Amino acid sequence: MLLGAHVSISGSLDKAVDRAVELGCTTFQIFTRNPRGWKAKPLKPQEADAFRRKMEMHGFEVAVAHMPYLPNIASPVSDSFKKSLASLIEEVDRAGRLGLRYLVVHIGSHLGKGLDVGIKRVAEAVNTALSKVENDVVILLENMAGQKNSVGSRFEDIRRILNHIEYEDRVGICFDTCHAFAAGYDLRTREAVYTTLEDFDNIIGLDKLKVVHANDSKGGLGSHIDRHEHIGLGKIGSKGFRELLHHPALRDLPFILETPVDSKGDFSTNLAKLKKLAK
Ligand code: MN
Ligand code: MN
Ligand code: ZN
Repeated sequence: MLLGAHVSISGSLDKAVDRAVELGCTTFQIFTRNPRGWKAKPLKPQEADAFRRKMEMHGFEVAVAHMPYLPNIASPVSDSFKKSLASLIEEVDRAGRLGLRYLVVHIGSHLGKGLDVGIKRVAEAVNTALSKVENDVVILLENMAGQKNSVGSRFEDIRRILNHIEYEDRVGICFDTCHAFAAGYDLRTREAVYTTLEDFDNIIGLDKLKVVHANDSKGGLGSHIDRHEHIGLGKIGSKGFRELLHHPALRDLPFILETPVDSKGDFSTNLAKLKKLAK
């Protein structure tokens, strides 16, 4: 199976590949640059080459880029929307040059202007970015936990965004288990997992699902709290993750950990847990 974690690029981009190898990942996710600022240093051809070569050397076929923290492609504020769009364009380009198949994007916040405004903005940003960058990268919209003003915590909202997308083959979904659970989609039992994925299929379509962010949840079902927990130690629990890992629609997808690193564990313990539950 494709099991991995979000690894750091500290030092250099290709060091992320070493970290993924060391952890025993078969896939991984990175920020292509420091995620905390608006500005990124341009990606040098040598950096991209070193990264791609190392990925190939270690046999990684699928790896994922994640957008930095600041952009909000659902923003109704013109200035911040423009900056977010510029950042999206840049990240689609960088992901392509690094040989990353997917770019995960948080759908964002409408900042109080309402879902309709947010949905239009997201679609506009994605369409514009894909019209400006010609490569093989697929943008994955990540379901949200349903925090105040967030866009895309309900499958129906995501469907509405997809209905406005002009590049159908270049857009898919990243399903974050913590966010889904916090948004009110139960994942604790076999029945719950099957019902949630049936809903997903009916509303969005399981063919759109490309990556799973495997995170347990500190918050309860429908709590709208986006706080990740170690696999099996949160409100979803081991049983839920066993069912997720064995579900036929998810079995072949990359599962990427974004779990905490603290006294209770790290990526190594969580990866071991996923591998055990996947057996
Ligand atoms: Mn995310
Ligand atoms: Mn996530
Ligand atoms: Zn989260």
